Amino acid sequence: MVGLNEIINLIPRITQKDKALIEKAYFFAKRAHEGQRRKSGEPYFVHVFETSKNLAMIRMDVETVVAGLLHDVLEDTNTTEEKLQREFGEEIVTLVNGVTKLGKVKYHGQARHVESLRKFFIAMTDDIRILIIKLTDRLHNAETLQYILPEKRKRIALETIEIHARLADRIGMGKLKGKLEDAAFPFAYPEESATVEKLSVEKSTSNQKELTYVTDTLRKELINQKVHIVEISHRAKHKYSLWCKLKRYEMDINKIYDIVALRVIVDDVTECYRVLGIVHSIWKPLPGRVKDYIANPKPNGYQSLHTTIFTGNGGTVEIQIRTPEMHAEAAYGIASHFIYKEVIKKGRKDVYNKKSLAWVNQLKELKEIVNQPKEFIEDLKRDIFSDRIFIFTPKGDVIDLPEESCVIDFAYAVHSDIGDHAQSSKINGKIAPLHTKLKNQDIIEVVVNKKANPSSKWLQSIKTAAAKKHIQGYLKKHSLLAKFRSFAKF
Ligand code: MN
Repeated sequence: MVGLNEIINLIPRITQKDKALIEKAYFFAKRAHEGQRRKSGEPYFVHVFETSKNLAMIRMDVETVVAGLLHDVLEDTNTTEEKLQREFGEEIVTLVNGVTKLGKVKYHGQARHVESLRKFFIAMTDDIRILIIKLTDRLHNAETLQYILPEKRKRIALETIEIHARLADRIGMGKLKGKLEDAAFPFAYPEESATVEKLSVEKSTSNQKELTYVTDTLRKELINQKVHIVEISHRAKHKYSLWCKLKRYEMDINKIYDIVALRVIVDDVTECYRVLGIVHSIWKPLPGRVKDYIANPKPNGYQSLHTTIFTGNGGTVEIQIRTPEMHAEAAYGIASHFIYKEVIKKGRKDVYNKKSLAWVNQLKELKEIVNQPKEFIEDLKRDIFSDRIFIFTPKGDVIDLPEESCVIDFAYAVHSDIGDHAQSSKINGKIAPLHTKLKNQDIIEVVVNKKANPSSKWLQSIKTAAAKKHIQGYLKKHSLLAKFRSFAKF
């Protein structure tokens, strides 16, 4: 049975108040989901518990951890929003509501909707924490896919890879991205997954000896040179990302150098470069494989030094060198900023206690980082969608359109035939004229009649180039015919 302390223990220096809040949410969710079961036969509560635990594990703030426990009570139980508001307040209700809204969109396997869906997720996310809760919610669902019906399973697995993992990557949460992909991979692409599994088992057993040798040698030399090692360890590449790379290298596993990589974590940037120097003084680097992502971070913010060395025994090993901050950022991306937020909220004393004036600067730096999540999400929105609205078909597919678009734009975006023969429409179930301007999240049903045709009046209401092209095309053809007919009368 799952226990409350499993969550509590994940939060360092938790206050009594926060502890009480988590406890309250824990029992509230347990009661609300009483009697409900998952497809696996487990109590439903296990799902919200695991979601919340994952959020605590990536060090999200207490409000997010609490919202994780409560994230399904509005959708799946008879708990009302008012009640939730009374018990837990505005902030938590906003988070739970946001997650509930995101749950309404579905991926129907049409590739052309994928980009819209991704954009939609970002558009709906006023608070980055909502997206992070949704991603951890999906992680637990993906990890329990074996209990889902086979025909549903594949859709959910593909959706997880195409939408959720991509979004996790977008906000720099590499660890979550890898977990989402690896949970979905066997169900989305069973054969490919089995192939990769086999290849990587063979490869990693042959790599083990080399790896142990390189780790031991490097550790000794670093200690000799008085480098303080925070951590030295190795990780296997995630299976799905290995498959993506294999496809780019004609499925030749010998061309892939980072199936297993050695990771060295040291105190600061200067030490990182020193370690790189030491590595190259012991082993010869492969030409073209030295990468400085500290000076030139990857677009998602990833920082590290990479090099691949010849071990001298016929093999090669990739070594990644970084600081603890870079490591946290690579694993948790935007969420790593909440770790710092926690430091400020709860660890103020620690900062004050440092007997130097350095804390003033530290605090300033931390504040800058803390302020980032909001700006970050704004930038992200500006970057990938500007002035777009997201409209649903009755089946739940998402179509993204420019602001001020009307039903006619929507009809043409779905299919030119639907646009050409649109007769009337229903917006959110109510009859509305075709020139009605659409609002974000409207659900539109277009009524089609083979005898209905585009009108020149439509040109005054439409916003999209696609609608314009089709309407003008029709009118041109039509007026030529009219001219021809009137000419034929003579
Ligand atoms: Mn859920």
